[in-house]
Amino acid sequence: MTDLQYKVIIGLEIHVQLCTKSKMFCGCAVEFGQAPNSRVCPVCLGMPGVLPVMNKQAVEYAILVGMALNCQIASFTKWDRKSYYYPDLPKNYQISQYDLPLSSNGYIEILPDSGQTKKIRITRAHLEEDAGKNLHTAGDFSQVDLNRTGTPLLEIVTEPDINSAAEVRALAVELQRMVRYLGVSEADMQKGHMRFEPNVNLVITKNGAEYKTPIVEIKNLNSFRALEKSVDYEISRQLDEFMETGKIMEPGTKSTRGWDDVNEATVLQREKEEAHDYRYFPDPDLVPVEITEQWLESIKTQLCELPLVKHMRYVRDYGLSNYDAGVLTAERSIAEFFEDAVAIGGEPKRVCNLLTQVGLKLANEAGCSLAELGLTSEKVAELAKMTDAGTISATAANTIMQEMTKTGEKPEVLAEKLNLIQKSDTGELEAIVDRVIEENPQAVDDIRNAGKKSGKARGFLLGQVMQKTKGRANPKIVSEILARKLG
Ligand code: ZN
Ligand code: MN
Repeated sequence: MTDLQYKVIIGLEIHVQLCTKSKMFCGCAVEFGQAPNSRVCPVCLGMPGVLPVMNKQAVEYAILVGMALNCQIASFTKWDRKSYYYPDLPKNYQISQYDLPLSSNGYIEILPDSGQTKKIRITRAHLEEDAGKNLHTAGDFSQVDLNRTGTPLLEIVTEPDINSAAEVRALAVELQRMVRYLGVSEADMQKGHMRFEPNVNLVITKNGAEYKTPIVEIKNLNSFRALEKSVDYEISRQLDEFMETGKIMEPGTKSTRGWDDVNEATVLQREKEEAHDYRYFPDPDLVPVEITEQWLESIKTQLCELPLVKHMRYVRDYGLSNYDAGVLTAERSIAEFFEDAVAIGGEPKRVCNLLTQVGLKLANEAGCSLAELGLTSEKVAELAKMTDAGTISATAANTIMQEMTKTGEKPEVLAEKLNLIQKSDTGELEAIVDRVIEENPQAVDDIRNAGKKSGKARGFLLGQVMQKTKGRANPKIVSEILARKLG
């Protein structure tokens, strides 16, 4: 019997489209879904003799991400031409950064399903321009749309620190919420704002010896699902291939595969690809970029508390579950709404429940934000306080929350209107309790005989009181009265 174990090794390359108004080196608008070739000019069309001019905003966005990724930011960087020929690249070179990337040697923390955070080292993050798009929808020929040509892209490369498909997904999700928090990218998968290229191989231990399977790069994945599924597929494919053929890695080479979404399989594109010779050289049309301490300081002011830090703080300080913390920190606007409500005095868990059980559900259904639903953190905090004070029940709070989105009225007004204020008037409740005791001698006997084991009978009497008050008695006060009367 063979003894076989394996470890999954994954490095990830991510391209993130930055949400600047104009392109990286010209004034053309960055706009999705416009008529083909309507957002182009001589610069991004690659006409001879034109001069590119750097977009400062793109550099600042890129530096901001570099800071969030704990990278060293270069004080001096430059632009290089990466030469290759492809129909969607009119200049026959892409302006990129080769040996002096804007950011390097950082790390990002991710939260895999285990609930334990994990550090993934970042090799580098550099700025470059996007290529256009080849369209294959016109019959037996292809068309080129150059609207996307020259759009600023941040390319982030990780060290091979990722060890499962679930981790690679966690990383992608973390990056998405990070760039959204920073406001540097919409990170909309459907619009191709984030594209992933994992490098996958296995280290197999068999009968005491170690083998590395050939590295496969999966190209151009544009959804979390495709990323996770393709990596999972590739892991089992490499394992099978090793068992059948014993094939191992040849250093310096890797093959590339694409993801077939329909058949849910990776498909070989190029075998044994050597490191490309892109003939990088400094772009003579662009001046190098000097990044001063002063500039860095002013960019730093745009940093915010990052989503995972927030997430872990909610778990630690507010006792929220990982799941709840994840929902609240998914978007910065939700997290800020939540924190505002807590700052005004809403109990965190109570506010969380109102948001996750009612507010966000309704917002999702309506496809809008909490604020657009007419909810404010003041109203939600007020509602939470009323619930904690026993003025209304938790169920009533959910009803009021729902009603607030329709009428925009204050919770205390709605509680009155909808007759949801709990009876806490001891005198009135005492009379009802007396009646219930009179009508249910059996349950009363049970309580008196069973002493502390009388939970069921007590629950029954409480239920009777709730019934007589149509659910509006404050259960805490009723329980106290019952305890006093029955010992
Ligand atoms: Zn242009
Ligand atoms: Mn790239």
